[in-house]
Amino acid sequence: MTTTAEDTATLSTRQRAKLRSRLVDDHKATELLISRLVSDLDSFQHSRQDAPVDDEHDPEGPTLAFERSQSTAILGQTRIHLSQIESALEHIDGGTYGVCVTCHKPIPVARLEVRPYSTQCVGCASKVR
Ligand SMILES: [Zn+2]
Repeated sequence: MTTTAEDTATLSTRQRAKLRSRLVDDHKATELLISRLVSDLDSFQHSRQDAPVDDEHDPEGPTLAFERSQSTAILGQTRIHLSQIESALEHIDGGTYGVCVTCHKPIPVARLEVRPYSTQCVGCASKVR
């Protein structure tokens, strides 16, 4: 056994705790956003069922359809974000946080400060297309 863990540890316990609480806050906010988007989509669904389907003069028609597709897109992105946060929290609790999942090199603290949910270093993240 070498001191590898110590060599790759770029985060102090305090920094890790700070990032963890940011992730927990973000997780709460993201869950809230998801439930709001879901209920938005629900209400779109209802207004579409209530509204006469063939009324071309309904000014709400295209707007609702547009908003609905926007909300669906945002919901999809938000769900991905939530799973990123959850995976980052798992990494923190599992002791593997701050290490790139692809190349196993430490992720710079500056990157984690900007994106606490990062599980890849900049080099590997930019390779994923
Ligand atoms: Zn990497």
